[in-house]
Amino acid sequence: MRNPLLGSLKSNTALHFINGELTASANGATFDSVNPATGELICKVALGGAVEINAAVAAADKAWREGPWSKTTPSERATILRRIGDEILARKQEFAELESLDSGKPLQETMNGDIPRAAFNFHFYADLCHHQVSPSFRSDDGSHHTTIREPLGVVGLITPWNLPLYLATWKLAPALAQGNSVVLKPAELTPLTAYALHEVLLKAGVPAGVVNIVQGFGPDSAGEALVKHPGVKAISFTGETVTGAAIMAAGAPTLKKMSFELGGKGASIIFADADLEKAAKVATRAAMRNQGQVCLAGSRLLVEESVASKVIELVKQEISKIKIGDPLDPETTLGALCGVEHRNKVLSFIDHAKSLAGVKIECGGNVPASVNQKGAFLEPTLITNVPQESRLIQEEIFGPVLTVQTFKTFDEAISMVNGTKYGLSCSVWTKDIDKANHAANKIRTGLVWINSWFIRNLHTAFGGMKHSGVGREGGQYSLDFFSEMKTVSVANPLHERHGLVWI
Ligand code: NAD
Repeated sequence: MRNPLLGSLKSNTALHFINGELTASANGATFDSVNPATGELICKVALGGAVEINAAVAAADKAWREGPWSKTTPSERATILRRIGDEILARKQEFAELESLDSGKPLQETMNGDIPRAAFNFHFYADLCHHQVSPSFRSDDGSHHTTIREPLGVVGLITPWNLPLYLATWKLAPALAQGNSVVLKPAELTPLTAYALHEVLLKAGVPAGVVNIVQGFGPDSAGEALVKHPGVKAISFTGETVTGAAIMAAGAPTLKKMSFELGGKGASIIFADADLEKAAKVATRAAMRNQGQVCLAGSRLLVEESVASKVIELVKQEISKIKIGDPLDPETTLGALCGVEHRNKVLSFIDHAKSLAGVKIECGGNVPASVNQKGAFLEPTLITNVPQESRLIQEEIFGPVLTVQTFKTFDEAISMVNGTKYGLSCSVWTKDIDKANHAANKIRTGLVWINSWFIRNLHTAFGGMKHSGVGREGGQYSLDFFSEMKTVSVANPLHERHGLVWI
């Protein structure tokens, strides 16, 4: 039975959502949305380009400049955001099933992670609408200076396929909370939950033109047109590092504000004094969740040499508990990768590992026999004795592949963890709080977890160092990104130092 969120498809095509209406591409172009677990067509998707982006930006600009959105108060926006979150939760099962169908990720994850978090993104920013602070300062001459935030206008959001609705809403909610209007370009591999969002937006009473969703690809397509459009004031991008660099260059002539959440090569460092059972269990999850297709994945395991063989055995035990299968089966814990092409890219890293002397595939490494052979499945794979300079350590594999390296000293561990171009996240496992704290100071990543992985508080700064990102999102940081700051200064002519202080 077709997912009810796709129930209203015209000509079996998920259309753009422009100016409050479902819209086909002017030239009628479409692309296929394929179920990565079976290789079967789910539906067609409208393929947008410059024409659709122009229409969407024009609608967004009008909604922001003249329409009701520019006149809403933060409290009114909070009410609408809350309704969007409520409506996503009311249709949680449908959204979760659609996300699993489109992306291949297990229903367990979409039901308990992606979709509740998408709803929470709206609830969280609905609350923040009520807590905006405008810092004020008094100068020596008695004058008062207050910095206030205003919307930027039309902002562009470009999102990846690995956490489709989760990340689209992570950008959408703060952009709307701050009073901007939006053009969203979802990833071409997972366009469907963004398409389905239009029903929620209409039901929640979001005025026409405030949120526009244009489907399509990146280069020479909707993504590039959005980045180059002079009417778009900012781009918030999440995706690969090389794409981020291309977007930075393409946006430069129109001087856009930009935020980049890019690739990662996260590590779990396990010191000998850690709770080894717990560390092995969480480190395995850190590598395998969402088939390893998480920017924050702990895809590298760094283990103190004296406990390495024990930890490797524990990780193998954890891997043996993973249940590969149909993403829509509630028992499945490892679904399909996002597509066969990507799965084959991950397999090429495993082939490379096989060609390296001394490197051992401890388990996995193959396409499992038990699943649909047209699907993009891959066994969870553990590879030991991997040299630091190899591609397996230096490049983002983005699949269910965990590499293991050993270290003898604290400094060696830190130098290995910092020894890639990425700097997004790292987990440190030790019972020694001083060691944990010292490691957190030395590690060059935007997020450091102590004896944990993936725990989050949405108020905190989220983002990467080095090639993992530029800027930070989260809580107030996102609201700052989606704002123009304006300082209003009021003189105090009655003050005894008025006119005497010049700075
Ligand atoms: P991608 O860079 O291939 O694509 C991301 C988006 O950018 C897609 O919507 C795509 O259509 C668009 N795009 C591609 N080229 C473009 C161009 N030239 N101009 C404008 N838009 C363009 O990334 P992906 O493969 O979808 O996602 C996986 C990557 O995302 C991984 O590297 C992962 O680490 C990263 N990621 C990072 C974070 C983070 O928070 N740091 C979170 C999730 C994913």
